[in-house]
Amino acid sequence: QMQGSSGREEKIFVSVRLRPLSVRERVRNDVADWECINDETVIYRSHLSISERSMYPTAYTFDRVFGPECCTKDVYDQGAKDVALSVVSGVHASVFAYGQTSSGKTYTMSGITDYALADIYDYIEKHKEREFVLKFSAMEIYNESVRDLLSTDISPLRILDDPEKGTIVEKLTEETLRDWKHFKELLSICIAQRQIGETALNEVSSRSHQILRLTVESTAREYLANEKFSTLTATVNFVDLAGSERASQSLSAGTRLKEGGHINRSLLTLGTVIRKLSKEKTGHIPFRDSKLTRILQTSLGGNARTAIICTLSPAGIHVEQSRNTLLFASCAK
Ligand code: ADP
Ligand code: MG
Repeated sequence: QMQGSSGREEKIFVSVRLRPLSVRERVRNDVADWECINDETVIYRSHLSISERSMYPTAYTFDRVFGPECCTKDVYDQGAKDVALSVVSGVHASVFAYGQTSSGKTYTMSGITDYALADIYDYIEKHKEREFVLKFSAMEIYNESVRDLLSTDISPLRILDDPEKGTIVEKLTEETLRDWKHFKELLSICIAQRQIGETALNEVSSRSHQILRLTVESTAREYLANEKFSTLTATVNFVDLAGSERASQSLSAGTRLKEGGHINRSLLTLGTVIRKLSKEKTGHIPFRDSKLTRILQTSLGGNARTAIICTLSPAGIHVEQSRNTLLFASCAK
């Protein structure tokens, strides 16, 4: 059971994954300045002066930290599995990867999505008393414009408020999954669709959010009079966020807020929403301020479960971005 450091079951489970130095970083003689000293603490082993050290914290504690020796299966098992699998019992969920460009978001999130789907199929196999239907859709948010990753039609999709279903993305393709192979086929379509955008516009993947969404419906094959919920429906979102430098650049330099290319409204709003959800619990939560938070609203608030994996480059040259990432992670706690 994934439990937060406070002992109770947390709605937002926050972990940090520190990737190994890349070959390119090694060739440049970068050194790993970050280290996980136990399962919950990551430290900055800097060569800072004494006065600088007092300005910045050097140890950060989370629900779980994963060092460079950990594989994605470890991260999944201990940082995302419980949250993702709550969808089979009718509880909405979201799993996010947050971090600067090249810190390992896509690497981590694509592995997690595969493991989760495999476990969901495994669960279905073991629960023959219920009939399951899995529906899959995929979208990308770029410059506050939503695009269907399963369709060749690239026109932006509208977000609507439906009195019954809540917020819906109009005309979004939803495929009923036949099996694991079908899921992998759809994933390769998403990857291809993302790459089409990539060549048309620079740096799309660092500026866009990708949401893979799975809806699980299940019905008891035999109606049991004492069974309260004979039909369960819930959605899990796997979210590969835009590079976090898109949020921190504008945060650290207020004057640049108007500079379109650098701001990412969805990323900034997500930060505010998550901070409010984890700290305040009451009051106004600005879901409506961005496309990302509108789309995820039902899978974030209320009884929904959330896991955030913050990815970190160990290289000393990225220390400012790494600190910003850990600050975001701390706010989500
Ligand atoms: P992002 O999506 O945050 O921009 P990527 O996931 O594309 O970053 O990772 C950048 C590079 O680092 C990729 O080549 C990826 O394969 C590699 N990488 C990321 N995390 C790890 C890891 N934990 N172990 C090994 N290689 C990794
Ligand atoms: Mg990526």
